[in-house]
Amino acid sequence: MSNLCTFCKILQKEIPANVVYEDDKVLAFTDIRPAAPTHVLLIPKTHYDSISDVPAGDPILSYMAHCATKIAGQLGLREGYRLVVNVGDNGGQTVYHLHLHLLGGRFMAWPPG
Ligand code: 5GP
Ligand code: ZN
Repeated sequence: MSNLCTFCKILQKEIPANVVYEDDKVLAFTDIRPAAPTHVLLIPKTHYDSISDVPAGDPILSYMAHCATKIAGQLGLREGYRLVVNVGDNGGQTVYHLHLHLLGGRFMAWPPG
């Protein structure tokens, strides 16, 4: 087995995923343990351990936000949805490859746990 992180393995197709969107910069797939009726993970094809490792001026974050809007539209989340980025151990991050959670299909309570 390779030393790639879990999401790089998904990018390399070493681990299968249910892909909902893909282009040259990002991949989106359903979360293996969905926390809502719709739970998509959106990742950049370039590996960053976390959002805090993205250099200032790198356009990937705004591009991911744009893609999330597009995916939410494709999935029919007209009543709203939530975008989440967990950062570090206390932030609840378990996979250290930058990813945006797109959660929808039910009312999302606030504050989160
Ligand atoms: P984090 O806790 O790092 O913010 O989110 C990582 C997410 O990745 C979790 O919601 C977890 O269920 C999901 N996940 C972990 N491994 C896999 C996998 O192999 N495939 C998919 N589709 N999701 C995964
Ligand atoms: Zn990775």
